[in-house]
Amino acid sequence: EEERDDVRNKWHIIVEGVDIPPPIKTFREMKFPKPIIDELTRKGIARPTPIQIQGLPVILSGRDIIGIAFTGSGKSLTFVLPMIMAAMMEEHRMPLEGGEGPVGLILCPSRELARQTHEVIEGFTVELAKQGMAQMRIMLCIGGVDSREQSDIVRNAGVHMVTATPGRLKDLLHKKRMNLDICKYLCMDEADRMVDLGFEDDIRDIYSFFKSQRQTLLFSATMPEKIRKFAESALVNPIVVNVGRAGA
Ligand code: ADP
Repeated sequence: EEERDDVRNKWHIIVEGVDIPPPIKTFREMKFPKPIIDELTRKGIARPTPIQIQGLPVILSGRDIIGIAFTGSGKSLTFVLPMIMAAMMEEHRMPLEGGEGPVGLILCPSRELARQTHEVIEGFTVELAKQGMAQMRIMLCIGGVDSREQSDIVRNAGVHMVTATPGRLKDLLHKKRMNLDICKYLCMDEADRMVDLGFEDDIRDIYSFFKSQRQTLLFSATMPEKIRKFAESALVNPIVVNVGRAGA
């Protein structure tokens, strides 16, 4: 009990919520498979950052999270790693067929951020494939990328993870070129920017396509009242992890 408080104090991690899993000290504690550790090593990543220290155990325990963290704090890996693990487990349990997926969806406020996040995921899925551990199909859904070619992948083989901007995704869902029938993980990155850019209605529309219960991850650099309200309407019993400057 005292030790977990020490770790949180040391890294200025502020938590809110009930039954919060203890922070981790190493990636090894999370039992990531070798290809994941290898890719982290290739990127020069050895020790978790504060958002990863507390965010990874929260997400891997299945809880909804509100992560308050600035750009560059390592938040992408905080949601990418658990989502890859979940999609991989799902694939081992029951391989996807044509027309199925995604299992995990990441929404981003801009094409650039979506592309970056997609490329981070790709680094891990390529390594998983190389080491014969899993064949994960991933997709980037943003404006300016040929969406017909993209949705052919879904139709023919199914897709595990999609990284999208809300407008483009909503469009594909309404055209029935993609569905969220088996989607269990939703991550909203830079939620404050998405709300500021007016994506709130698109996102609420996207919620309505979910059929099964989902785990929702919301990340934001700031938590003004309107983001808190927005989060409360979408998350269930969330844990708040704040690594913004102390007191912010
Ligand atoms: P954010 O999503 O908060 O902007 P990213 O996850 O994109 O942050 O990480 C920012 C940079 O820091 C990236 O280059 C990433 O590879 C690197 N990084 C992430 N986690 C770690 C870590 N634990 N140790 C060292 N570098 C890291």
